[in-house]
Amino acid sequence: MDAEEAVRRNVILVLDQVQDAARGRRVVVVAATKTQPPELVRAAVAAGIRDIGENRVQEAADKKRELGDLDVHWHMIGRLQRNKVKAAVSLFDVIQSVDSLDIAAAIEREASARGLVLPVLVEVNIGMESTKGGVDPAAAVSFVEGLREFPHLRVEGLMAVPPAGPDPESSRPFFRRMRALQAEIESCGFPHAPARILSMGMSADYVVAIEEGATMVRIGTAIFGPRAGR
Ligand SMILES: *Cc1c(COP(=O)(O)O)cnc(C)c1O
Repeated sequence: MDAEEAVRRNVILVLDQVQDAARGRRVVVVAATKTQPPELVRAAVAAGIRDIGENRVQEAADKKRELGDLDVHWHMIGRLQRNKVKAAVSLFDVIQSVDSLDIAAAIEREASARGLVLPVLVEVNIGMESTKGGVDPAAAVSFVEGLREFPHLRVEGLMAVPPAGPDPESSRPFFRRMRALQAEIESCGFPHAPARILSMGMSADYVVAIEEGATMVRIGTAIFGPRAGR
């Protein structure tokens, strides 16, 4: 079996498991494609993937040059640097990693210049790890509320990467806290922040994430196999 065939099979397996866990709810699978070559991304799309997540602006730009014909949504899921915001707004349909007013203000300027309202997610540092991006969970509601001053951002929901644990169950309490936060923000009814999306769960723990209310999972290894390097 060649690599493309393996990816196609993996996508079918993952979509199947997602559907089982979702019990009739709609859950979007974002393929996390960092380090993966364009032909494998193409294979994933051929098997049913409609959303692509990239971590780095330059890598996304390179890949989009070869994959611009695909009918997919491009998601920025990595940490975004201030000086990459202009390129990011031109490349991505969704930015999932908004975690500072500084980045939000930069996105606002670019989106406004382009005359568009960009869907974004607010990243929450649910494990409060110093090595990770994301806003403090205790500050998440007021952070989302504060984004109202940026009319060219639309806060569609929250994203999180819980601390790495020994097994999928160790992520469950973090997913549960994320679900509570998302429900709290959604119930605020902020016009600029409908906040219906909850992007959480990766290859190791996406079934648990969906059980706890994820509406979007980001999956790399389970589709493409192990990454070389990072
Ligand atoms: C790489 C990555 C994923 C996917 O991780 P896997 O464990 O390979 O499924 C999901 N989210 C983010 C932010 C990532 O960087």
